[in-house]
Amino acid sequence: MSRPDSSSSVSQGQPPRELEQPLLPGAMLGVLGGGQLGALFAMAARRMGYRVTVISDAADVPAARQADRVEVVDYRNVEQLAAVAASVDAVTFEFENVPAEAGRAMAAVTRVHPSPDVLATTQDRGREKAFLSRHGFATTPYRLITSRAELLTAAEALGLPSVLKTASCGYDGRGQLRLSDRSQLDAAWESLGADRLVLEAWVDFTMELSVVVARGGDAATASFAPSHNAHARHILDVASCPAPVSEEIAAQAQDMASRIAAALGLVGVACVEFFLTRDGRLLVNEIAPRPHNSGHLTIEAAATSQFEQQVRAVCGLPLGATDQMSPAAMANLLGELWSDGEPDWAAALAVPGVRLHLYGKASARPGRKMGHLTACQPSVEAAIAAVTEARRRACRQPLSVPLTVE
Ligand code: AMP
Repeated sequence: MSRPDSSSSVSQGQPPRELEQPLLPGAMLGVLGGGQLGALFAMAARRMGYRVTVISDAADVPAARQADRVEVVDYRNVEQLAAVAASVDAVTFEFENVPAEAGRAMAAVTRVHPSPDVLATTQDRGREKAFLSRHGFATTPYRLITSRAELLTAAEALGLPSVLKTASCGYDGRGQLRLSDRSQLDAAWESLGADRLVLEAWVDFTMELSVVVARGGDAATASFAPSHNAHARHILDVASCPAPVSEEIAAQAQDMASRIAAALGLVGVACVEFFLTRDGRLLVNEIAPRPHNSGHLTIEAAATSQFEQQVRAVCGLPLGATDQMSPAAMANLLGELWSDGEPDWAAALAVPGVRLHLYGKASARPGRKMGHLTACQPSVEAAIAAVTEARRRACRQPLSVPLTVE
């Protein structure tokens, strides 16, 4: 299947003055961060003939298993990161929470995509929302909070319920609290314990969507069709594509993602997460300047995967086609599934069309992303049914906490 808006989403913008020479297969690509996003990037890069150095703060990480070389670093050690950067032809990220100075020190010695400025904007919710507002992209109403007094005034202005989030380093619902009553404000301020927070109005959305977009050094952009994201306990549970939205909303989301990539000056891949409101408006929730969990289904379902797209963008190669070849769904496999030993993979894989990805993490903690399942089927409903059924079969006994929210 090919969505008309996805193939037409490759567009040419204004190219920058000086184009970098393409980095061709054989070059050594550095990926900062050692998790599954780095592992899947390394697999795509090595398939295309590149070599990969994983730059991580630990040696025993999922990406290390797929790499030619691993450099263990302290992400705060600017000199050490610059020295490693000098040993590779380009650096990209699977983990964006490195200090901006470290990014700049690496950029002084090799090509770094996305740029440290993009990281600086997207790693702080306050700066990210200010950037979006400045460029006219609709976001959740918010206030930046740096004191208890500001929290009280912001709660007054935005109303309750609202969500208090740490400005940096929050993910999968960590570092955020839903506030429904004024009596919770003091405790929330104490418990998040950060000196920069963002208070967001609660959005009564109908659906969460995300668009993975790539932008090359020549300013061409290419976005994938939006995926529909269902979360369980703040963690992505099932992503499916095409999303159950009109062509118009899908096109709007892709167009916004491409314009955000251009406004950021992105070279690389980013994921833009949206809330679709009951009155049909798309609000940007957040931007991740790297491939995203919701884009994993592009490995099986799209003409080019989000990871190959990252390789192409970072290396200055033409971006790949983003056409979706089949309706698809992806279900995350979280640590809970291991609570009664290794899940029953044979039972899961007996569901026709289901593909298994395991990241090789040594210990299975609740909430930890251990792997995912993908299915391509003639309809998106059938794809969702296949991955959820496969995951149910993998589970050796019913979980006390359900993995899916209906
Ligand atoms: P985030 O880390 O900002 O992506 O938040 C994780 C999840 O919490 C989102 O995917 C939503 O399901 C929920 N959430 C975050 N912010 C809001 C909000 N302002 N209103 C309603 N739900 C939210």
